[in-house]
Amino acid sequence: MKHRCPICKAETDSAVHADFPFCSERCRERDLGNWASEKYVVSEPVFTEEDNAEREGSTVVLNLDSDLESPNDTKN
Ligand SMILES: [Zn+2]
Repeated sequence: MKHRCPICKAETDSAVHADFPFCSERCRERDLGNWASEKYVVSEPVFTEEDNAEREGSTVVLNLDSDLESPNDTKN
């Protein structure tokens, strides 16, 4: 049975190549590497501008001069 290596397009033969349908072990490993790198890209976290704005808005600024008995009251 003849086929073509999906990596380098070289003609391969199931009766000759142990790594069929790849022409060599190197091409077989490269194919696995392609899958691994795709997986990595998909799982990479994505930060939107909205996320950044929300993070800045939640920054807490401590007012050391505020009344210690009511630390949440900023009107005083
Ligand atoms: Zn190949």
